[in-house]
Amino acid sequence: MTPATPTIAADRWRLWYPRGMLCAVCRQPTRGFGWFDPRRSKRPRPPVWFCSIPCQSFWTRLAREGFAMVDLTEEERAAITATMQRVALLMDEIGWATPLSELTEAQVRALIEEAVEGFREAMSDIAWVQTAEVPF
Ligand SMILES: [Zn+2]
Repeated sequence: MTPATPTIAADRWRLWYPRGMLCAVCRQPTRGFGWFDPRRSKRPRPPVWFCSIPCQSFWTRLAREGFAMVDLTEEERAAITATMQRVALLMDEIGWATPLSELTEAQVRALIEEAVEGFREAMSDIAWVQTAEVPF
């Protein structure tokens, strides 16, 4: 039977450190920066983890402004625009006239990877830039 409060350090470490989770902003592996909703609410927002202080600060600012989790944020739209440029370069290599049904698995995989990586990097860059603008 497991005790309610972990007594050994390894158990405590396992419970608080977010291994295997991705940053809520840029989807990179987390590094121990967290956020929880301090307000009591009927619909509390779940706690999330981040890769860096800029991503944590970015999320905290959006949370303070009461962002809607359904719609894309202005920053996410900007990240999608940045991602489109990367995907377009890859499409230049593949050939724009190639129908989607004739793409190979490797080409589809490369397009998805480029889109995910591009979005992740763009969101991370946006978080870093916005954090640099906030004087501490
Ligand atoms: Zn991040």
